[in-house]
Amino acid sequence: MPAIDLRSDTLTRPTPGMLEAMTTAPVGDDVYDEDPTVHELESRAAELFGHEAALFCATGSLSNQLGVRMLVEPGTEVLCDVQAHIVRAEMGAHAAVGQVTTRTFSSPSGLADADRIAELISVGGGPYHVSTAAVAIENTLNYAGGKIQPYQNLVEISELCQQYGIKRHLDGARLWNAHIATGVPLESYGALYDTISVCFSKGLGAPIGSVLVSSADNIARARIVRKRMGAGWRQAGVLAAAALYALDNQLARLADDHVAARAFADELAALAPAAITPDDVQTNIVVFDTGDHDAGAVAESAAEQGIRVSQLGPRTLRAVAHLDVDEGDCRTAGKVLGSLLA
Ligand SMILES: *Cc1c(COP(=O)(O)O)cnc(C)c1O
Repeated sequence: MPAIDLRSDTLTRPTPGMLEAMTTAPVGDDVYDEDPTVHELESRAAELFGHEAALFCATGSLSNQLGVRMLVEPGTEVLCDVQAHIVRAEMGAHAAVGQVTTRTFSSPSGLADADRIAELISVGGGPYHVSTAAVAIENTLNYAGGKIQPYQNLVEISELCQQYGIKRHLDGARLWNAHIATGVPLESYGALYDTISVCFSKGLGAPIGSVLVSSADNIARARIVRKRMGAGWRQAGVLAAAALYALDNQLARLADDHVAARAFADELAALAPAAITPDDVQTNIVVFDTGDHDAGAVAESAAEQGIRVSQLGPRTLRAVAHLDVDEGDCRTAGKVLGSLLA
């Protein structure tokens, strides 16, 4: 039996239509700023979010780093969730490379809240306290189980930042999922941030690629820093074509992933009710509790039955629905995990 691999939505392979788009795209040298397909993707992304410009990058870790660095001077700080990808999963890059310090807030149920963030903001601290330069929000919040940040919370956080004169970064690796699940227009999200990173290599199914969206001035500066980091690239239009194809053909179908993730959770909860509350599943990610069982051992037993999930903690596993699995696969997987935890 072939494995049903739910470890991540990064595991997808390019679809035939996407491969066709990649091989027929007009290309040029992007370090010379001459790749027409990269230009098309960058102007499309800028327009979608109502900003002036965009920069196509190899990874979300790179576009997050560039976005945060455009807003946060060395020796000042960005505030983010304790579970945020920028502080947990980018190998310390914001500190090690960007000279940015971080303070974290925790969000009950994964929902960022202006009152909690307000407690941390430090402006005008003089020569004693680190100055807060920006707040970074992750939407959806991966490690909280793909939680959607309610739009009203985001508006309040944005207003708080403006009140204190600090900047706003969005790690929107899976903003597409929030957009499809809520119907909130991308432009409405765009209006709340100074810099935005979105990924094409997650649920959208492209093999590579993220985009940083911001003002023309920030993007011009980010382009220089990107080259300094050795991440300028040449005929990147081959990859931009995959991202454009994904926007046109693989965005609306994220709704199917949300249905499939919910089906996984329903089957799991039917056999192991303590593991997950199905109503908590809002997008394509299911983070669930293994209770008394060691999560690594459960993942191994599932793998022996052809089901792959990833381990987030000693008692926590994650299953992610994506383009290369369907609702039936997710039901099958939910039953296997449910019987292991029953
Ligand atoms: C995947 C991801 C990123 C970017 O990851 P890369 O592997 O560097 O492309 C950023 N933020 C979140 C929340 C992610 O899940």
